[in-house]
Amino acid sequence: YKQMGEYAKALEHYEQFHLIKEVVFNAQSDLRIKNLQVIQQVERAKRENELLQQKSAELEKEIEERKKAQERTEFLARTDALTGVYNRGHFITAAQHFISEALQQQFSLSFILIDVDYFKRVNDTVGHLGGDRVLINIAEALVRILRARDLIGRYGGEEFVILLPDTNQDTAVQVAERLRETIDTMEILHAQNRLHVTISLGVTSLENNTEAKGSILETLLQQADRALYAAKHQGRNKVIPYTNDLQENTI
Ligand code: GH3
Ligand code: MG
Ligand code: MG
Repeated sequence: YKQMGEYAKALEHYEQFHLIKEVVFNAQSDLRIKNLQVIQQVERAKRENELLQQKSAELEKEIEERKKAQERTEFLARTDALTGVYNRGHFITAAQHFISEALQQQFSLSFILIDVDYFKRVNDTVGHLGGDRVLINIAEALVRILRARDLIGRYGGEEFVILLPDTNQDTAVQVAERLRETIDTMEILHAQNRLHVTISLGVTSLENNTEAKGSILETLLQQADRALYAAKHQGRNKVIPYTNDLQENTI
């Protein structure tokens, strides 16, 4: 049109050409911007995902740590700090559970009560730490000799209590005798001293309690205590099983 001298048309054509160019350009830049936005969104989502994964790993770690702390608290709550066996409270709770099971399923079950002989002398001659060492070594021997499912508790200062599930009194007496002999032949080292102690043991069993009134656990522990008292009375370093006449004669 310019060559033909039709300037108005040439201008119109030129304007239209620019209009179209601008529209195309705008559409392209829109696309480019949209593309950039999408890339940005993907990047953001990736970063968020990474953060979430990191947080989730941190949470998992925290849950794991809390679980461990909880287990540790529960362990401490049921364990005697010196010897590592059950403390009296937990032993009683667990024993009650075992007794109801045994009664329901008609299993036998026995108790052994142990008291260290002349323990005061140990403390007096080698000191309290020496006494503690004796208690630790006795507890270790009990754990070593007894079965994993037997309950071992520290009943008091130098007293231990054992529950033998599925064990009648005759067998429990044999087990107690093995414990007595093991401690009697054991040498305990403490600060250049070789210590020797003996234990007295009272044994009783669920079979003695077919007509028990009141708490069976309390009755069993009283019977084991009576038998233990008799063992002390008969010279110590002995195993005495509970019998009914023990009840009448010794107390
Ligand atoms: P028996 O043969 O009649 O049982 O005499 P015993 O000296 O063992 O009896 P007694 O019950 O009079 O003494 C127990 C001692 O145990 C007294 C107490 O100081 C000591 N004792 C209690 N708990 C601990 C402890 O955790 N560590 C130490 N080292 N000694 C303890
Ligand atoms: Mg005692
Ligand atoms: Mg004692």
